[in-house]
Amino acid sequence: MFEQIKIACRHLIEVPDDVAPARYASLRRIMTVLMVVVSVMPLLVLTGINHVQYQHTLQGELEVPLRGMVGKTRTSLSLFLTERASTVSLIAQAYSFDDLSDPKTLTRIFRALKSEFQGFVDLGLVDETGRQVGYVGPYNLRGAEYGDQPWLHHAQVKGAFISDVFLGLRGTPHIVIAVSHMEENGRTWVVRATIDTAQLDRLVAAMGLSPDADAFLVNTQGIMQTSSRLYGGVLHKLPLPVPPVSYDTSVTLLHDAQGQELVAAYAYIQNTDFIVMALKPHSALFQPWTTLQSDLLLLLACSVALIVFVSHVLMKQLVNRLQASDERRVAAFAQMEHNQKLSSIGRLAAGVAHEVNNPLAIINEKAGLALDFLHMTGDFPKKDRLTALLQGIESSVDRARNITHRLLGFARRMEANRQELHLEEVLTETLGFLEREAQNRGVTISTSVAENLPALISDRGQLQQVFLNIIGNALAAVDNGGTVQVRCAAGQAGFVHVEIEDNGKGMPPEVLRHIFEPFFTTKQEKGNGLGMFITYGIIKRLGGEIHVASEDGKGTTIRILLPLVPPEGQENPALPNSASVQEKP
Ligand code: ADP
Ligand code: MG
Repeated sequence: MFEQIKIACRHLIEVPDDVAPARYASLRRIMTVLMVVVSVMPLLVLTGINHVQYQHTLQGELEVPLRGMVGKTRTSLSLFLTERASTVSLIAQAYSFDDLSDPKTLTRIFRALKSEFQGFVDLGLVDETGRQVGYVGPYNLRGAEYGDQPWLHHAQVKGAFISDVFLGLRGTPHIVIAVSHMEENGRTWVVRATIDTAQLDRLVAAMGLSPDADAFLVNTQGIMQTSSRLYGGVLHKLPLPVPPVSYDTSVTLLHDAQGQELVAAYAYIQNTDFIVMALKPHSALFQPWTTLQSDLLLLLACSVALIVFVSHVLMKQLVNRLQASDERRVAAFAQMEHNQKLSSIGRLAAGVAHEVNNPLAIINEKAGLALDFLHMTGDFPKKDRLTALLQGIESSVDRARNITHRLLGFARRMEANRQELHLEEVLTETLGFLEREAQNRGVTISTSVAENLPALISDRGQLQQVFLNIIGNALAAVDNGGTVQVRCAAGQAGFVHVEIEDNGKGMPPEVLRHIFEPFFTTKQEKGNGLGMFITYGIIKRLGGEIHVASEDGKGTTIRILLPLVPPEGQENPALPNSASVQEKP
C-alpha cells in the first residue's frame, strides 16, 4: 500500500515522456482509493464515537424509569416492614409475659394493632420452650410447638427477626415478625406476628409497570416472595441468577433460559432477605434506539456510497483530462522535433546545392568549350567517340544541375509569383500531364471540387508542382486499374482543403516517418526522393499545411491546407505543425 502511494505521488508529479494508458489507470485507481479513504475514515470514526456515546447516554436515560420504580418500591417496602417490626417490638417491651398470656389483653392489643396497621394476620406469645402460650387470630394455633422453627431461633439470637415467606403450620404463604424479650431473671419469651403476603403483592403491584415488564420480590436464595407474571408464583424458584448484593438500586443485564437479554433493576432490602426486582426485555427497552440505529446505518451507507461514486467519477474525469493533455503535449513535441529536423535538412541540402552549383557551371562551360573546339578542328581518329563523351558530360551536368536547382528551390526565398487562381483550373492543368499514363494503366482519377470554392492567391507554377508530385506518387503507388480521388473543399475560415487519396500500396511506418526527407525513396532507380521534400518546402512557403495518413497495403491520403491569401513572410509562424505524418488506424 505504502509503495503504491509512493508510485501514485511520483505519477502525479513527474512529467512523462510517453503516454502509457496503464500509468493513468493505476493513477486513477490509487487516487480514488486515497480520496475515499481520506473522506470516509473521519466519517466512520465520528460515527463510531457518536454511536458509543449516544448509546451510553441513551442507556442511562432508558434505565431511569425502571431504576426509579424499584427505588420507590424498595423504600415503601422497607418502611412497611420496619414499621411493623417496631410495633411488634413495642408490644414486647410494653407488656409483660403475664399480660400477654391473658387472652383478653392479647385480643385487645391485636384489635388495636389491626385497626392501626394493615396486613397483620395474627399475634402470638411463645415461651422459652417454643410453645405458643397465647394466640389471637383466625387459625387454631394456641399450643403450637415452634421449637424447631428457624425464625424462633433467629429471634432469640438477634432480638428481632423478619422471616422469608413460608407456608408454616397454616399452609398459606406468610411472613413472621418475631421479637424476643428477656426478663431480668433471664427468662426469654417471644412475641410473634404474621403478615399476609398479599400486602407485599400490593406494594409491588403499585409500581405500575408496562405490559412487557415484570416486577417481584425474591429472596437471596432465588425463591419468589411474591407472585410474578412471567416467572411463577410465590415460593417458586426464580429461573434467573440472583444479582450481586447492592442496597442501592442497581441495573444489570441478565439472560433468561431462552437466551433473551433482560435489563434488571434491583435493590436489596436492609435487615431482610428480600430483593426487589423489575425486569424488562432489552429489546423492548432499546426499541427506539435500534430503529434510530438502523436509520443512521442506512444514512452512513448511503453517504459512503455517494462518496465512493463521486470520487470515482471525479478522479476519472481528472485523470482523463490529464492523460489528454499529456498526449497533446507529447504529440506537439514530436511534431516540433520533426519540423525542426526537416528544416535543418532542407537548409543543409540547399547549402550543398549552392556549393555544388558553381563547379557544375564550370564543368558545363568547359565541356561546352571543348565541344566547340572539337567542332572547329578537323577530323581525327575517335573524334566521334570524344564528342559523345563530352555530350555525356553535358547531359549529366544538366541532370545534376536540375537536382541542385530543385533543392535550391526548397529553401530559396523565392519572390513567389502571386496571382489569383482557382484550384479547379490548376488541378485540370496538372492532370493533363498525367492523363495519358493513367489511361494506359486503367487508373481512374476522379476529381470533386466543392461548389463556390473561393479563389485563392497563390503561385500557380508551384502548386502545379505540388499536385504533380503528389498525384504522381499516387499513380506510382496504385496497381493497374486502381483509383485516385482528388477532393477540394473550403476548410476552416481563410483556408481551402485538398485531399488526394489513393488505394495503392500505402506505407509502413518506417517509410512514413521519412517521407519528407530529401533523397528518401523506395523506388530505387526510378525515383530521386525529392518530390515530397520539395512539396513540403513549397507548402510551407505558401503558408499551408500538409498531412499524410497511410496504412500499409491499404492506401494513402494526403491532406493539404492552403490559405486563401498567403502570408507575407517565407514561413508561417502561426502554423507550427505545418507537416505531419500519421498511420491510418
Ligand atoms: P520518389 O517519388 O522520387 O520516390 P517522393 O519524395 O515523391 O520520392 O516520395 C518518397 C517516398 O514516399 C516514395 O519513394 C514512396 O515510397 C513514398 N510515397 C510517397 N507517396 C506515396 C503514395 N501515395 N503511396 C505510397 N507511397 C508513397
Ligand atoms: Mg515522387
